[in-house]
Amino acid sequence: MSPTPDIAENLAAVKAEIATAAEEAGRRPEDIGLIAVSKTHGQDRIIPALETGHRLFGENRVQEAEEKWPALKERFPDVRLHLIGPLQTNKLARAVQLFDVIETVDRPKLARKLSEEMAKTGRRVDCYLQVNTGEEPQKAGVLPADLADFIHLCRDELQLPVKGLMAIPPVDEEPALHFALLRKLAKENGLEGLSMGMSGDFDIAVTFGATLVRVGTAIFGGRP
Ligand SMILES: *Cc1c(COP(=O)(O)O)cnc(C)c1O
Repeated sequence: MSPTPDIAENLAAVKAEIATAAEEAGRRPEDIGLIAVSKTHGQDRIIPALETGHRLFGENRVQEAEEKWPALKERFPDVRLHLIGPLQTNKLARAVQLFDVIETVDRPKLARKLSEEMAKTGRRVDCYLQVNTGEEPQKAGVLPADLADFIHLCRDELQLPVKGLMAIPPVDEEPALHFALLRKLAKENGLEGLSMGMSGDFDIAVTFGATLVRVGTAIFGGRP
């Protein structure tokens, strides 16, 4: 494990960078949510972030989140937790219990089961649809060409609370092209939320209209 970084200082620096990028783009900084991605990190790094007043967090695995967050949510009840990693249908009920937002809705079967689970429990969890903007075979996400139909299924047929789109651009390509594509797809389909940008490119994502950025390393330091 690397030595614990100064989490409060890192958070403040990331927020300042978001504000600068927003102002340069003629946007209001408060229109951009910073998801602190705490995957792999323990309470020793998460609690300092919570103590600054930060409340928006992201995790990529259901099981890991279940081990860390119920106790933290009891202590900090206004936490909002986003699932940003792939969701298997056998963990879906647990994900709906714990998470406030699921950003990785990416296939009809999952969408149908989510809709059933929300109807059964009465718990509404905001959804983002993950788009495979780079059309990478190994990557999750609906292909851009299939997106309009998928949105129709999720939003109109299943009545899921679809808030926007999410993407993880290919590592070896210019992220701006993917951010621009995601923004275009959202606009064409009447969606407002855009979850895009990570430690290396969140400022560019803000320029291209991100309403949520997902930042891990720049806040919590490197992962083991
Ligand atoms: C881990 C992860 C992030 C954060 O990545 P960093 O480069 O550490 O900021 C963002 N989005 C997703 C989907 C992730 O899995």
